Amino acid sequence: DRARAAIDRHVRLVDDFPSPGIAFKDLTPVLADPEGLSAIVTALTHGCRGIDLVAGIDARGFLLGGAVARELEVGVLAVRKAGKLPPPVHSTTYTLEYGTASLEIPADGLDLAGRRVLLVDDVLATGGTAVAAAKLLTDAGAEIVGVAVVMELAALGGRSTIADGLGPDIGVHA
Ligand code: IMP
Repeated sequence: DRARAAIDRHVRLVDDFPSPGIAFKDLTPVLADPEGLSAIVTALTHGCRGIDLVAGIDARGFLLGGAVARELEVGVLAVRKAGKLPPPVHSTTYTLEYGTASLEIPADGLDLAGRRVLLVDDVLATGGTAVAAAKLLTDAGAEIVGVAVVMELAALGGRSTIADGLGPDIGVHA
């Protein structure tokens, strides 16, 4: 399809980043390409119904989340890495392969109760980031209805992590 063709053409593969043995897929050039961005946003919104907020995960999820939200005619929320937002924040810390990371959303000025949220990110790897972001949002009262990513590193089992962490009804769209 269009999105796959644009990814194959423009994706940048970086060996040993962010640590030895990891082959990093950098989608930056795909998103900088007009056909690439258009095809990806169309693919990410395909079949999305009943969403009333898009949450984009730091940082390429921000770019995609804004475009997807505009396409779906809903609002957008940035799920940020620690230390970027003014207080008060809701924060969650989760385990990475090496060490931990934290994600935050504002704890004020935003009513997430009952909001039906689509999570958007560029790459689904182990699924730890998506589950942490989803927990942050559900703890604040939102309902996660789907996870949409551009690329899935299927060998890392992200889909089953999401099913284990969030339940089998969460649609994962890659
Ligand atoms: P996970 O928590 O292991 O699923 O990792 C997903 C998070 O790390 C996402 O926010 C991605 O942006 C980032 N990530 C992991 N692997 C890659 C990659 O190969 N390319 C780009 N981002 C990646």
